[in-house]
Amino acid sequence: MSAGSIPPLLPLHAASLLSQKLAIAKPQADSCDPNPAKGHLGNSLCRSTTAGNSWQRDLADAVRDPEELCQLLGLDSAVAATIRQAAGDFPLLVPRGFVSRMQPNTLLDPLLLQVLPRISERLPSPGYAADPLHELGSLRAPGLVQKYAGRALLLVTGACAINCRYCFRREFPYAQAGANAAGIEAAIDTLAADPTIHEVILSGGDPLLLDDARLGRLVGRLESIPHLRRLRIHSRLPIVLPSRVTDGLVSLLADTRLACVVVVHANHPAELDESVAAAVARLVDARAILLNQAVLLAGVNDSLDILKALSERLIDLGIVPYYLHLLDRVQGTAHFEVPEERAAGLYDGLRGLLPGYAVPRLVREVPGEPSKVWLS
Ligand code: SF4
Repeated sequence: MSAGSIPPLLPLHAASLLSQKLAIAKPQADSCDPNPAKGHLGNSLCRSTTAGNSWQRDLADAVRDPEELCQLLGLDSAVAATIRQAAGDFPLLVPRGFVSRMQPNTLLDPLLLQVLPRISERLPSPGYAADPLHELGSLRAPGLVQKYAGRALLLVTGACAINCRYCFRREFPYAQAGANAAGIEAAIDTLAADPTIHEVILSGGDPLLLDDARLGRLVGRLESIPHLRRLRIHSRLPIVLPSRVTDGLVSLLADTRLACVVVVHANHPAELDESVAAAVARLVDARAILLNQAVLLAGVNDSLDILKALSERLIDLGIVPYYLHLLDRVQGTAHFEVPEERAAGLYDGLRGLLPGYAVPRLVREVPGEPSKVWLS
């Protein structure tokens, strides 16, 4: 689907040691749980984390009300009813700063399309599933996912600051996976007992929803495991909530003995405004290796011009375009799918326009494979 067309199925316009020891995955941290019905904590907590830090205020102030979103963007108020109907138990959630980067008066804005609940999410799509990557089958311990050799992924929270409509979080049973204080403690014990693991990936949800104190305690525990060498953080917060890049976070990354890799997630160059540039500059100061992973999304970034502009903007900011993912086939996301053949064509086009270091690897995650599958 081109960025200029209206999606055919989307009638938007019509319609102790545990918590004492770590205090990491306590309920306050899970402040924007996507789906309480699947064992998460309540969304009401999103509004209660209004402590002094500006990022927590920005988080609490995120847009959740469809009517307000329509008002901010100059959209017909009738759209709000459709959003409510479409959202189901994965509600609208988008930080105000991200909304400010959207173009008003259009439902086709590429940033808006990433967060806008659409009726097509409710339609059955053969081949799409709740857990298409079989993450639950890759659990080594509660809260610890290991799919590939040498590294493992710690689920520190099920919460995020934004609800991207293509995200697996909409269906993933975090409580069952052990994304809580007890799970993290068990996961750390497992990491400590396995000398073949050299890299820990903090993930979720978004691990930067842990405040600096909790993150510091977690990193301190990981640093004490001698065979761990690298700390990787997968986070979209530097992009959607740049105020999260605090002095405390920068110090933590700069001071740890672990080599730090921060993998951010931006899909479109319009996401990377000056507030993001300033946050990224602070991460550069922390001497973290900065990578970006994007998802190829119909109507959002499935054009050569947009992908080229995204890579160039990332490089300007000091971020290496790392992965361009094909969509994970999570149920409710089929309208974002870009066919593999078209994706390969876009990738070949990019190679003809950009230096090699600015071309992200086109990948798909396939359950059971020993690494991500490179498609070109
Ligand atoms: S930022 Fe990442 S974890 Fe959060 S909703 Fe979007 S895709 Fe999911």
